[in-house]
Amino acid sequence: MTNPNSPPDHPQVSLSPTGDPWLLTPGPLTTSLEVKQAALHDYGSRDSHFIAVNRRIRENLVNIVHGQGSHVCIPLQGSGTFVVEAMLGSFVPKDGKVLVLVNGAYGTRMVKICRVMGREVEVQETPEDVPNDPETLDQALAGDPGITHVAAVLCETTSGILNPIAELARITARHGRAFLIDAMSAFGAVPLDAREVPFDAVVASSNKCLEATPGVGFCLARSEALAKTEGNAHSLSLDLYDQYVFMEGSGQWRFTPPVQTLLSFDRALQDHAAEGGVAGRGSRYRRNCQILVDGMRRLGFQTLLPAELQAPIIVTFHMPADPHFRFEDFYDGLRRRGYVIYPGKLTVAESFRIGCIGRLGEEQMRGALAAVEDLLSDMAVESCAPAAA
Ligand SMILES: *Cc1c(COP(=O)(O)O)cnc(C)c1O
Repeated sequence: MTNPNSPPDHPQVSLSPTGDPWLLTPGPLTTSLEVKQAALHDYGSRDSHFIAVNRRIRENLVNIVHGQGSHVCIPLQGSGTFVVEAMLGSFVPKDGKVLVLVNGAYGTRMVKICRVMGREVEVQETPEDVPNDPETLDQALAGDPGITHVAAVLCETTSGILNPIAELARITARHGRAFLIDAMSAFGAVPLDAREVPFDAVVASSNKCLEATPGVGFCLARSEALAKTEGNAHSLSLDLYDQYVFMEGSGQWRFTPPVQTLLSFDRALQDHAAEGGVAGRGSRYRRNCQILVDGMRRLGFQTLLPAELQAPIIVTFHMPADPHFRFEDFYDGLRRRGYVIYPGKLTVAESFRIGCIGRLGEEQMRGALAAVEDLLSDMAVESCAPAAA
């Protein structure tokens, strides 16, 4: 088979087993050959093997948060945003009020979702390089008994910052309100234990740290909380209560299931367990992140975040001030050498991002660093220091 994915074409090129560049991005990301091959089958939606696959996927996802007996999994077609929207719309009643903790684009997106669906929303914002603040949350909940739900992002992919989710969840629980988590970019690599972190719902998707192909999201819901959500949803297709009840009754999906994505997701979850679950995957990503940060600093780049705030998911680097450093050339040069990176999304500073997640290890991280070094000399960049603040 020829590769339609215009192959990289540099003498030092590095390629994945399928001849594609390595994706150092926050998703979609590089998947293993086995995960891609798992999708090479067709199943009808009522097929008993396929129904067993769905059951296994849902059980494995509940187990990742240690929610056996207390939590259930509701998968949903679509990209991650679909299931974020489904969570907010299904859990927050029409007369509810959400406090969203914002320090980047994904928190901002939850605010926008609430406004679009007509849920009352309050915003508590910190800068993109500052975690959500537990003390301010405590005060806000004490001061406003009308807030029914708090929503937060585990790892804000805008910067790569890790928010103090366990502490925020406990404060919210102490005030008797419900906690909703967008764990999209870190689920499966950063610990989240339902026995210790009180939440009503957490959402994530197939195509980030679980290393499957995109097309399906899921919500892990506390059963008692889910049972009270009937009739809340603003949308038919994004109604998690209905999706759950239908799936429990028939074992099938309400609407066309993303069959091939689910087949690769099933394989990806087996690989996740074989790697040692959250601990194993997290340690590979931490190592990827450390190699990347050390190597880029050695070349003179500066990270946005200090080590203690950095999640091992994606790293934000300040844009060098050297006039020879044009991001488009940098991006294209790395693509030619077999590595795809990501532009910045910060509002506070010029930046770009390099991801640590996906089917990547030490070899790919070191290869990417060698490609950066080679490219900087081609571009005649003398210094990677950012403009003085
Ligand atoms: C990727 C991501 C999403 C969902 O994005 P989609 O493009 O819809 O898959 C939501 N929240 C966070 C924190 C993410 O990283």
